[in-house]
Amino acid sequence: MGNEKNLIELEPKLSANYLRFECPICINKKKDDIGYGHCVIVRITKSKEIYKKTEHTWLMTGDTIENITLHPSILADTGDVCRFHGWVKKGVVQW
Ligand SMILES: [Zn+2]
Repeated sequence: MGNEKNLIELEPKLSANYLRFECPICINKKKDDIGYGHCVIVRITKSKEIYKKTEHTWLMTGDTIENITLHPSILADTGDVCRFHGWVKKGVVQW
């Protein structure tokens, strides 16, 4: 923890059911580095009912890349690449 980056800087794509963004730890790595270019994708819902009933779904508040918050934290399944584990809070990725 202690690092943060605005979501908007991470090539985000927000659709009705998914949020995708570039891993903030790895986005600035060079192309020949291990871990270059992977992204983080989470399934999202604004419904607390669906969130409670569905595994591997994040509860979203807010409407835009600039202000969304997700719950709970996100642990990227990257093995030994970067171990990204962070939060999206009000449009900012914190890890
Ligand atoms: Zn990464």
